[in-house]
Amino acid sequence: MPMDGKNRPRAGKSLGSILDAARTTRYQIAMLHFPKFALHGARVAALSGCDDGDCAHNAPDPAPRECLLHACGLLPHQLATVRQIHGIAIVQADPTCRPDADGLITNRVDVALGITVADCVPLYLLAPEHHAIALLHAGREGTRGNIAAAGITALQETYGVPPSALYALIGPSAGPCCYEVDDACAEDFRQAGLPATGRRIDLWEANRLQLTAAGLLSERIEIVRHCTICGGGFHSYRAHQTPQRNLAILALN
Ligand SMILES: [Zn+2]
Repeated sequence: MPMDGKNRPRAGKSLGSILDAARTTRYQIAMLHFPKFALHGARVAALSGCDDGDCAHNAPDPAPRECLLHACGLLPHQLATVRQIHGIAIVQADPTCRPDADGLITNRVDVALGITVADCVPLYLLAPEHHAIALLHAGREGTRGNIAAAGITALQETYGVPPSALYALIGPSAGPCCYEVDDACAEDFRQAGLPATGRRIDLWEANRLQLTAAGLLSERIEIVRHCTICGGGFHSYRAHQTPQRNLAILALN
């Protein structure tokens, strides 16, 4: 579906190049689709935005989340989520329960992975030949703990996926332009060998470094490079002190 200016979501200019028919006419959905992942065998790889409403688990209205899933060709009972606690635990996706964890993996086509974010990195992993996926919540704590490596290990141990078979996408999140922490946090990040300039930490580069250190090929890692704090278009805890959340969704074909 061609997009015109009227249908374009409110967002920073970098968003335009990665949008793929972002709104459906039926639901007026503004979520981002990641077409490269679809090319490699993902049925859905997307992130909702401000215009999609509040997709937090405790949102007062479940309609925005249900509309998003319908627009993705999914039913609400197919979405597996976790109670995110800023750790690095990874679980096999099960839509019937919601354990404490910050990453999900699956090889099932009838289950979609979901995590919620508002500045934290949604990290998408896809192994097309092994028919397996992971979706990770990589905020400051998760990145400091190397949740990328934890997700890659889980895929390897559970489904036999070698890291070199993976594609990765680092979604819209707090960018190095804006993500300022206190001195101790920045120093802690540096001590872990992760990039920080003064009090600003770089979650995008940190996750990229961790992915390549774990064995991913550089050319298979895509960073969307849209900052949710200054770029607009998404719920941002830092920019708006909001409890509202964007929903990241990943599902296999
Ligand atoms: Zn920024």
